[in-house]
Amino acid sequence: MTDSVSQKIKSIAQEIPQDVRLIAITKQVSVERMREAYSTGVRDFGENRLQEALTKRELLQDLDDINWHFIGHIQKNKAKKVIENFDWIHSLDSLALAQRLNRLAIELKRMPKVFLQVKVLPDPNKYGWEVTNLLQDLEQLNLCQQLDIQGLMTILPLGLSSAETLAAFQKTQKLATTIQQKNYSNLKMQELSMGMSGDYLLAIQAGATMIRLGRIIFGERH
Ligand SMILES: *Cc1c(COP(=O)(O)O)cnc(C)c1O
Repeated sequence: MTDSVSQKIKSIAQEIPQDVRLIAITKQVSVERMREAYSTGVRDFGENRLQEALTKRELLQDLDDINWHFIGHIQKNKAKKVIENFDWIHSLDSLALAQRLNRLAIELKRMPKVFLQVKVLPDPNKYGWEVTNLLQDLEQLNLCQQLDIQGLMTILPLGLSSAETLAAFQKTQKLATTIQQKNYSNLKMQELSMGMSGDYLLAIQAGATMIRLGRIIFGERH
């Protein structure tokens, strides 16, 4: 017998500090199981596909205090819908996208909370800024005043040891501090979105304020 969604959430809640926000990542998860998570107290849900997310939002309209987080790569032609439907965007991964989202946010009179997705270790299979490129883009990012830039988000490459994982998360945390010290008014760097099912305890150890958990709550995806 595997644990139920609510048992899983309760046991995770017991092992993480209260001020760390758990985001339930519900890609490929049914709305019934999302309701179970909601009834256990989860109010933050993350999706990586726009269409799937919109369909589920429709079906979960009655749960009107959910915070919806977008965690997937945003294609140009989907940017408007993402701005319209998500208060939190964890996957801002380039300056061009930032400028586009900023323009749309002005048009739509919205101010999304966003994370800058950074690759602290090289990973050709992932989107996001390399550290040196991010540092070069800070000045331009700071001008995107309609984006509420909250902090950094990272996804680590597969196959790291625990020590390497912890070091990579610490590197992300240090990078956030470095950026903070530059005193850009719009780069507050107060949140760190890092940690998934396999590495969230190490992420918390390194200062994560938001963890994004899928499989450990809902089981393997197919
Ligand atoms: C799928 C996904 C997660 C959750 O991963 P699990 O291993 O299922 O916990 C977190 N963040 C992002 C960006 C994802 O795409």
